[in-house]
Amino acid sequence: MFKKVFQITHSLLLVIAAFAAQATSHDESPSFKALPLTDNISMLQGRGGNLAVLSGKQGILLIDDDFKAMSDALKAELSNYGGLDKLTYIINTHWHGDHTQGNLALGDHAQIVAHDNVRTRLLTRQEIKLFNMVSEPYPEAALPSITYQQAMTLYINGEEINVVHYPNGHTDGDSIVYFKNANVVHMGDHFFSGFFPFVDISSGGNVLKMAANIEAVLHRVDDQTKIIPGHGPLSSKSDLRAFHEMLVGTAAEVKAMKDKGMSQEQAQKEGLSDQWNEWTDGFLSTESWIGIVYQSL
Ligand SMILES: [Zn+2]
Repeated sequence: MFKKVFQITHSLLLVIAAFAAQATSHDESPSFKALPLTDNISMLQGRGGNLAVLSGKQGILLIDDDFKAMSDALKAELSNYGGLDKLTYIINTHWHGDHTQGNLALGDHAQIVAHDNVRTRLLTRQEIKLFNMVSEPYPEAALPSITYQQAMTLYINGEEINVVHYPNGHTDGDSIVYFKNANVVHMGDHFFSGFFPFVDISSGGNVLKMAANIEAVLHRVDDQTKIIPGHGPLSSKSDLRAFHEMLVGTAAEVKAMKDKGMSQEQAQKEGLSDQWNEWTDGFLSTESWIGIVYQSL
């Protein structure tokens, strides 16, 4: 059954690999690029969503775990932080395969932590129509074993990790993870740094709610905070603010078109003002983005 799933999801991998090209080397064998952020926290970039790893005496905490095709490379990368035996927690920021398929290989070694709705979605068949992608139910060992509804805190290696749910942004099960002492934040897919994001309407995502959630995050971080986006390079508060302005600004333009009675297709034909052109760089076309915004209104 899983063979079939991964054949289908391979097409998503190609789509995402294309836009994540800046994070992907041209090497034949997949590997991770590690960027140390503090003494014991690093950002890892593979082919799917960005990862974070916290290591120390009490074990390894991993945020997200990339595609299945990256699992061998991820195991190899983790050997730099003490190895699989030290893996203690995996946090899944949301259910998408480019952030959770590593659960299939690593789930036996760690407790998987996520919002309630991530477990619910991974228990059943999921579909993302925009990418023509289907995800079959995950086996027990790859499912989140610890779930929460609004917020939870983990203490490991002298760090306080606040895992906070922000409703209906990128999906209906998103977590944003704050490393309190280190002043590092992993945004999950609430943040695509520098380009139009995918917002999964069919999984309960919504552009306007995503913007409201990010506004709340902007109140919680400062100019020194190291911000790990779901996709794109390590970022700062000003990058997150620019992303927020783009969400609000493009939503206002699409709303104005909708209010004039234009259909989604007409709005897509009309386009956005030129100031947003650079946000098409890397992933979604303006047309696709207008469609996502239109459906969020
Ligand atoms: Zn996602």
